[in-house]
Amino acid sequence: MKRIVIVGGVAGGMSAAARLRRLDAQSEIVVLEKSGHVSYANCGLPYFVGGVISNEEALLLQTPESLYKRFRLDVRVGAEVITIDRASKTITFIHNGESDLLGYDKLILSPGAAPIRPNIPGIERAMSLRTIEDVEVMTAAVTKLPKSAAIIGGGFIGLELAENLHHRGIDTSIIEAQDQVLAPLDPEMATFVEAELRKNGVKLYLGNSLTSINKETVTLASGTEVAAELLIISIGVRPESALAESAGLAIGDRGGIAVNEFNQTSDPDIYAIGDAAEKKDAIDGSATLIPLANIANRHGRIVADHIAGKKIRPISSQGTAIVKVFHLTIATSGWNEKRLAAANRPFLAIHSHPASHAGYYPGAQGMSLKLLVDPNTHQILGIQGVGKGGVDKRIDVIATAMRGGITAPELADLELAYAPPFGSAKDPVNMLGYIAENILSGLTPTAQWSEVEEKVAQGYSILDVRSVGEVDRGTLPGAINIPIDEIRERKSDLPFGKILVTCQVGQRGHAATRLLREMGYNAINLDGGYMTWSNSPANNLLSEPLRKEVSK
Ligand SMILES: Cc1cc2nc3c(=O)[nH]c(=O)nc-3n(C[C@H](O)[C@H](O)[C@H](O)COP(=O)(O)OP(=O)(O)OC[C@H]3O[C@@H](n4cnc5c(N)ncnc54)[C@H](O)[C@@H]3O)c2cc1C
Repeated sequence: MKRIVIVGGVAGGMSAAARLRRLDAQSEIVVLEKSGHVSYANCGLPYFVGGVISNEEALLLQTPESLYKRFRLDVRVGAEVITIDRASKTITFIHNGESDLLGYDKLILSPGAAPIRPNIPGIERAMSLRTIEDVEVMTAAVTKLPKSAAIIGGGFIGLELAENLHHRGIDTSIIEAQDQVLAPLDPEMATFVEAELRKNGVKLYLGNSLTSINKETVTLASGTEVAAELLIISIGVRPESALAESAGLAIGDRGGIAVNEFNQTSDPDIYAIGDAAEKKDAIDGSATLIPLANIANRHGRIVADHIAGKKIRPISSQGTAIVKVFHLTIATSGWNEKRLAAANRPFLAIHSHPASHAGYYPGAQGMSLKLLVDPNTHQILGIQGVGKGGVDKRIDVIATAMRGGITAPELADLELAYAPPFGSAKDPVNMLGYIAENILSGLTPTAQWSEVEEKVAQGYSILDVRSVGEVDRGTLPGAINIPIDEIRERKSDLPFGKILVTCQVGQRGHAATRLLREMGYNAINLDGGYMTWSNSPANNLLSEPLRKEVSK
């Protein structure tokens, strides 16, 4: 009989413990958890703050007693592991104020990641969200009905909290040092989210960092003072690797515990999983940190299988993530354009704005998708989606395609479930495949929203092929309007030379570009059309009078 000790009893740790027991009825399995609870639903915490989940018990998926009853696990809460002696294979932990020792045959580290807290005077009054104890403190503060809340950090948890504090009737601000919220999105996709936050009354301070914390306000680098009776810090997490480091285990370049494909650390009897461990990036194979629940759970199972001597399939991580912000769903997988550009990796970007299901069936809602593709191998490098309905399904299909090595044009071949209330005969996923095929085969060259100015400087004239009514509501500066159906008859009105075609979302633009190219013109299509351009920072960069003219 061997003893397996697990440090951290939530996502990764508890998955490993339960799987181990299902594979091995004999071994002693001890789980040591620093906080007062195990197996709690940390992903549900923001919704408890907002009162959407009203019963704290619902967040506590298991207790030490239930885990003993079902799995004969020895789970100790309030037990913090403070040292690992690898030579004697012993850990030291503090439990109920007493120091104790425990030997192990195998040790699994799943201590998670801690919220980053900037070293600013007054930071003590800022709350963060990680554990049940944290949510109790935050909920107690919220029920005192503060008038205002400032959230530092516009990432996933910050945005979830903003929505939930708003539900509580608190005047909420988000302060974000970057020029956009949700860093995994590219800026022209993030603007949809920013608009939704503003529409719902959340104040946004972008490109603005916190400089001082005052009694009931905070001051930003711009000098602006923001009401902050309640102050929340949510600027990211750092892996809890100090325990491993002090035991002499290798730490990776990203600051997480370095592991091999079986999640073994530099000591083969010690495994590391979850947010504390580095992962292998699915796109370039590099070491990465991806603090998400799915990966922590999956790695917990892999480690249990490895310890039990089962054959395992090592996995890499895509970082597939999803978040709800008021009425929007935002989801991503793989790399974004910012990261591809920074890595000097060639890519093709495709923007599409389809409906969630057949437009003629009631309730169809718009969404925006952005696919990133390797122009040489056609590998899917990343996907981003923002919309009201159906985004989750499309991102999950594409994340699965990425895992399976399906190329971008092959998305056209996927046979997806269709009836009018659910999708379209040409599903938005298939459409991305069709667009990729058209561009990659050279049928319809495209330009990005960020290249419009450059194209104009290169001598392109902009041709808007939408109806006069649509163009009246706004178009690109200097665009000539010839609706698509009039192109054949109005040949003499067409601009000379090179033409950059635009429409609303890129679809009529594709048809017009094809027609113009067949007519002998050097025409290219504006990817994602006016919808992408008008939501992009390119539009925001226009001077105020020009922007007014553009979107009259
Ligand atoms: C508010 C919030 C919302 C989230 N929402 C989502 C979401 O919607 N989707 C998603 O995919 N992910 C989400 N996550 C991230 C997800 O919860 C984590 O990726 C996942 O829980 C990581 O699992 P883990 O086992 O590595 O760490 P955790 O689940 O954090 O567990 C680590 C545990 O180890 C304990 N510990 C640390 N050090 C020691 C020690 N020395 N001794 C004993 N115990 C120790 C800690 O107290 C902690 O309870 C969210 C996280 C938070 C905080």
